[in-house]
Amino acid sequence: MYIERYFGVEVCAIDMEEALKEVDEIIKDKKLSFVVAINPEKIMKAKEDEDLRSLLNSARLKIPDGVGVLIASRLKGGKIRKRVTGIDLMQNICKRAAEKGYRVFLLGAKPGVAEKAAEILKERYKGLDIVGVRDGYFESEDEVIEYIKSKTPDVLFVAMGSPKQELFIKRNMERLGVPLLMGVGGSYDVICG
Ligand code: UDP
Repeated sequence: MYIERYFGVEVCAIDMEEALKEVDEIIKDKKLSFVVAINPEKIMKAKEDEDLRSLLNSARLKIPDGVGVLIASRLKGGKIRKRVTGIDLMQNICKRAAEKGYRVFLLGAKPGVAEKAAEILKERYKGLDIVGVRDGYFESEDEVIEYIKSKTPDVLFVAMGSPKQELFIKRNMERLGVPLLMGVGGSYDVICG
């Protein structure tokens, strides 16, 4: 996979089709991988913060989420020509999940939002199996982890803002044993309008 670097932050030169191919592979091989959407805000935060930079770089897929990334790529003679936004990839993964029977869990956002987003997504992608939802304002992380594990999802979306969601994913991915984890920021709020 071709990787470009902006202030030390890696971005994959991939389109939606290639991203979805990776997703299928991750779930098939149960590879424990996480996906981050890279935009200029994240690059600017990570530029000054080495720990955050290595956290983002350790993701398996670093999708080109922001227009700023496309502009930077063009200026540097890179190969990124199209955005793959976090919310588009999330919805495409849900579509794929409905077709292939992947089990999906939605974690994050204010109480009630993930439930509502789940209803909308199930309406949109018939057959989508959302095995659980939890809001992003919990007391006990241990309890949330055990709850998610008990639902044995293939895909866990985490909507808690950046870098909180990426830190949560990194800290818990081994314990969770969920193959595909993705931070999706404010996506549930957007889906709920
Ligand atoms: N959020 C959460 N737990 C927290 C902090 C934030 O679940 O402790 C949620 C918040 O309700 C919102 C999302 O995380 O749904 C953050 O959205 P934002 O647009 O700020 O994220 P970004 O995409 O800018 O990182």
